[in-house]
Amino acid sequence: MTQTQKAMVLFSGGQDSATCLAHALARYERVETVGFDYGQNHRVELDCREVILQKITELAPDWAARLGDDHMLDMPALSEIGGTALIGEGEIKMQANNLPSTFVPGRNLLFLTYGAALAYRRGLDVLVGGMCETDYSGYPDCRRTTLDALESALALGMDTQISIETPLMNVDKAATWKLADELGGAALVALIIEHTHTCYRGNRTLRHEWGYGCGDCPACDLRRRGFDEWKAA
Ligand code: ZN
Repeated sequence: MTQTQKAMVLFSGGQDSATCLAHALARYERVETVGFDYGQNHRVELDCREVILQKITELAPDWAARLGDDHMLDMPALSEIGGTALIGEGEIKMQANNLPSTFVPGRNLLFLTYGAALAYRRGLDVLVGGMCETDYSGYPDCRRTTLDALESALALGMDTQISIETPLMNVDKAATWKLADELGGAALVALIIEHTHTCYRGNRTLRHEWGYGCGDCPACDLRRRGFDEWKAA
């Protein structure tokens, strides 16, 4: 059943945020999207966004009617802070604090805060994000307790209630594939395989059953294992 709330989806062009976009389109009467350009090493994910936004409206007439504007926000300050495997030099490895070097301190807090500010301006009352506690990364700003606290801070700071919805919070990658299948069937799964991007190395030349990627970075590994598990189930 469609809810009368209106949603802003944090949409990067990856598997998780594309699944979140489908979740929002199935549920809310109006859906807008926001992406962030923070000097990522690989622009390929941002290029994927536009293709997905166009093609996802072909899957269902009511999704096409609900999907509204897409917004891109430049956040160059994040690349000035830099120093991580995603926005600076460096191999992906585990650090002494048990966080992978892909962790950008505060990144999700900034994305959600900017997303909430934009949602406020656009008259939207739900933020949808692909944060997940169950994958390997353990980013502290993906935890639900962090998001609950941020939701409270946003409500106080903007004097309005914008909820942060995280449909993938407690599901693993196999369940994320399953959710896509439930939301949009084989056509959505095919779109996610072909047009979303996950690989940390930005590889889009090697095509696997589960999509494009180098095949052995942590992000590819997670995506492949989830796909295999879902297929086997
Ligand atoms: Zn990869």
